[in-house]
Amino acid sequence: MKKCDVIVVGAGDVGLGIAFKAASENLKVTLIDKENVGGTCVNNGCVPSKTLICTADRIMETQETAKLGFYTNIVEIDFSAVMKRTRDIVTRARDSIKKAIEETENLAFMNSEGHFIDEYTLEVGNEKIEGKKIFVASGARPSMPPVKGLDTIQYLTNESILGLKKRPESMIFIGGGYVGLEYAHFFSAVGTKVTIIDRNLTLLPFEEQEISDGLKKEIGRRIELRMGYETVEVRRAPGGYVVLVKEIGSGELKEIFAEAVMVAAGRRSNADLLRVANAGIETDKANFIKVDDYLQTNKKHIWALGDAIGRAMFTHAGDKESELAWHNATQKKRIKMDFASVPHAVFTYPQIASVGLTETQARKDHEVLIGKAIYSDTVMGEAMAEHEGFAKAIVDKRTETILGFHIAGPHASVLIQEVVNAVITGGDVKSITRCMHIFPALSSLIVETLSNLA
Ligand SMILES: Cc1cc2nc3c(=O)[nH]c(=O)nc-3n(C[C@H](O)[C@H](O)[C@H](O)COP(=O)(O)OP(=O)(O)OC[C@H]3O[C@@H](n4cnc5c(N)ncnc54)[C@H](O)[C@@H]3O)c2cc1C
Repeated sequence: MKKCDVIVVGAGDVGLGIAFKAASENLKVTLIDKENVGGTCVNNGCVPSKTLICTADRIMETQETAKLGFYTNIVEIDFSAVMKRTRDIVTRARDSIKKAIEETENLAFMNSEGHFIDEYTLEVGNEKIEGKKIFVASGARPSMPPVKGLDTIQYLTNESILGLKKRPESMIFIGGGYVGLEYAHFFSAVGTKVTIIDRNLTLLPFEEQEISDGLKKEIGRRIELRMGYETVEVRRAPGGYVVLVKEIGSGELKEIFAEAVMVAAGRRSNADLLRVANAGIETDKANFIKVDDYLQTNKKHIWALGDAIGRAMFTHAGDKESELAWHNATQKKRIKMDFASVPHAVFTYPQIASVGLTETQARKDHEVLIGKAIYSDTVMGEAMAEHEGFAKAIVDKRTETILGFHIAGPHASVLIQEVVNAVITGGDVKSITRCMHIFPALSSLIVETLSNLA
């Protein structure tokens, strides 16, 4: 039996954060991962998808230059070069993590699948290893919907899509959540005919209503949206696949053909692979690991974090959890994870970004003021000829605390940051509006929105 101070399961962003921290404190650390280091974000999540989307955004902007008074033609999109560039970026990121692990003293990496055999012992490959403290950052994987025939075809997921060398002429996305929408944006921008099938009538139903509606309108101009449809069956057909869909309301069936099918139907927990039940670690109905506000499981020396807990499934949230889980495991005064102020962005076209409550959520417990502005209310927004993008603020009427802020339009994920900083530090409207904002930068959109409260 091998013994160590700290075992970290998962060499994704979140597990790596803990492993490096623990090793830097002279503890004997074992990091376990069955796949490539870097986890979802580096290998098949944020890094590749945003690299591809960067290309897609430039293509879209190029197609829209007429509004600025000049005309462009895209001569050629070299799909295979776009994909290769993305794979190269992923490889470089992964290699630099590998190197950092190798160069870190006290950190042993085991590249095998592990599972609990009792509370503080894991079996990894042929070895048994016991840890005084265990951090579970085992992440999640694509969820497969129960669609007849799906297991008989070669569908794509966020894990296999990077292997594509040739652009499919047409693609069907099963699932229109953020993963599906982001990849749909990329493929439609490079010229693939894209159809999205989703059970919900609303696109991204957890977003502010105007954002969902606006995105549906914008994206619906270039992507066929089958909202309120269920995928019933998939089967091979010459040159591709036929997908049988059913409109949930009417029960009407329809067949759609595409050269490729991508499944983007949510994420499922990896807790089953890790056999957490052998350690008595509690999971929720969806099998994500249950933790308290301090990220501790029901076991005294076992913490869980990142996608493994199924809460705010974003890298930035996981990174924060990693910092807090380590703090809480090693310090007397523990700190709660603040899930309410986790921001997020969806890198579609338009880009959307959001922090805090939606108007409907806020009205349940607050009397609210609402502020709205469109990009072209600002000098830079008008200069960009950006007439669709907008922002919306939801503010507590009595205290002027910012309860929620939502943006759809260029650079939304960057613009939201000053609001995030205010929300996290408990700032009110004035904490933003009293600061000078560089004129005429797009950041005036935030000030404009907060100046229109009523
Ligand atoms: C397509 C896509 C795009 C995304 N884009 C963004 C984005 O733009 N911004 C953002 O913030 N978030 C984004 N995310 C989410 C983000 O990638 C995840 O929230 C984040 O990577 C989770 O990190 P993690 O360390 O918790 O889990 P992971 O990175 O999934 O790491 C878990 C690791 O545990 C290993 N593991 C699991 N079980 C075992 C076992 N039994 N034994 C050994 N190893 C095991 C796995 O192999 C894996 O490497 C995206 C996700 C996807 C799928």
